[in-house]
Amino acid sequence: MKKAVLLCACSFACPSMKEINFAELAERIRLELPHDFMLIHPRLCEANGEELLSDLIKKDGVVYLTAACKPEKQYKLFRDGFQKAGVEMTDQNFKPVWIQFKNTDQAFEEIKKALEELEK
Ligand code: SF4
Repeated sequence: MKKAVLLCACSFACPSMKEINFAELAERIRLELPHDFMLIHPRLCEANGEELLSDLIKKDGVVYLTAACKPEKQYKLFRDGFQKAGVEMTDQNFKPVWIQFKNTDQAFEEIKKALEELEK
């Protein structure tokens, strides 16, 4: 399975993510963590983000690790994007990671841990 890391920056202005330096986080992921591709979007849950997901999400062979708000919220917010792509959201193709209220190092560790869990 390919691993796609999707970072949602919540407008780069949400107080819950003010301790995360997204440029640094993305570069550390690129250099240090095993994945196939990564993108940063300012607001994945808005129409423009949903449009991206609906085009991006493939039926087979890719797992989407989304680093964003609470997983419970992500399941609701990204479901339509999956549906538009014609792909059922499952534990095999969707791995939400909670990075709110974390700093850059902590967010990196959460994403690292989630990628390691995908290897099991
Ligand atoms: S998906 Fe979550 S983290 Fe991303 S913009 Fe929406 S509320 Fe913010």
